Amino acid sequence: MVRPNGGQLTALEGLRESVLVVMTSFPFVDDAGLALLRSVPLGVLRKNATQRHGVTRWMRSSTGGLTVQTVDLHPVLLTTDWENYASFVLYHEFLHVLGWRAHDARFRALEALWPDGAARTLGPSFTHAMRARRAAWMWTCPSCDFRFPRQRRGRGKFLCRRCRTVLLDVPVKDAQ
Ligand SMILES: [Zn+2]
Ligand SMILES: [Zn+2]
Repeated sequence: MVRPNGGQLTALEGLRESVLVVMTSFPFVDDAGLALLRSVPLGVLRKNATQRHGVTRWMRSSTGGLTVQTVDLHPVLLTTDWENYASFVLYHEFLHVLGWRAHDARFRALEALWPDGAARTLGPSFTHAMRARRAAWMWTCPSCDFRFPRQRRGRGKFLCRRCRTVLLDVPVKDAQ
């Protein structure tokens, strides 16, 4: 876990407020649930995370039950570019906090209640953007010019998803 700085804490609390405004109108969230969501500590993930955009961390209490320790969001979500997606990710984590632990059909139905439909589909774009930030290599298709940002070289072992040509390793500083 990474300790959030002052600016990140302010951004996280702003997100919490805007997500709770929406959740207050949802009939499945009661006062106890809202109080829990108001009190859960918010933090940030490591900035080099790519696949994980948010996470709810649990700890075992002395009586053996699970209690929420923290909800962490990717720090890049706290920039204005990703504001709408950040709200949706926090909503997703808040559903976990309320007790829906698994991504089952019920969870997905609740998740789909989030009113910003466009934000619900931004996960793959965010993953792609985070990979591109860290990429040292651009696996490049010499046939159709499709590009895949990657940290490691492909060493001729990977085919283009579109046209099945062997991808070439191009250093990112030359690819831009
Ligand atoms: Zn989840
Ligand atoms: Zn290709």
